[in-house]
Amino acid sequence: MEITRTEKAVEGIVPGLTRREFVVGTAVAAAAVGATLILPPRARAASAIELPPLPYADNALNPYISSNTLSFHYGKHHKAYVDNVNKLIAGTDLADLPLEKIVIATAGNTEKQAIFNNAAQVWNHTFYWKSMKPKGGGAPPKDLATKIDAAFGDYDGFKKAFSEAAMTQFGSGWAWLAAKGGELQILKTPNAENPLSKGLTPVLTIDVWEHAYYLDYQNKRADYVAAYLDHLVNWDFAAANLRV
Ligand code: MN
Repeated sequence: MEITRTEKAVEGIVPGLTRREFVVGTAVAAAAVGATLILPPRARAASAIELPPLPYADNALNPYISSNTLSFHYGKHHKAYVDNVNKLIAGTDLADLPLEKIVIATAGNTEKQAIFNNAAQVWNHTFYWKSMKPKGGGAPPKDLATKIDAAFGDYDGFKKAFSEAAMTQFGSGWAWLAAKGGELQILKTPNAENPLSKGLTPVLTIDVWEHAYYLDYQNKRADYVAAYLDHLVNWDFAAANLRV
């Protein structure tokens, strides 16, 4: 009898049942049939920006980037940007947007500089990890080499231009291989800036903030850049970004 009354209450057709009777009765009914209570769907919670897993073990880039550097860089720096951006967007109209849209929406907006800085740094780091792989580096595969040659003369021309961008970025920032209309170009960006907000397609990046290399190379940024190009670049990732 009670169960019948409760089932009707669940359907909202038993007026006069108190809330307490309803809740207790529903729980009893659910327990009686071993069922799980089905609650009304909540408004969709904003999906937090997540720290994606590293695409390899933190010692996989040894000896060019040590596990010491990688564990701090990923586990402390990258994670802090994720935590910060989630705090900053909570309850705002940006909270439901995917990361890339947050970056583009806040670029160049001085009032939203802190959100941009943290969101772009999350995006940049995720892209940087994928720009490298164990046993990477060296000359690109043929289809990509054709595009590299068209833009920079040859692979050495690319290396020279990319290294120069990485070396001459004064202070913290990034160097990028990017594309516009299928044509490759190299650029450097300060702090958290990236090619997304410039309408370019990012292809590869190297982090030249000191935290990226100081534990392994101290002030020798050139050695870090050379190790990246000769031993770490993930050309498969670059090709996928260019769809060649
Ligand atoms: Mn970094």
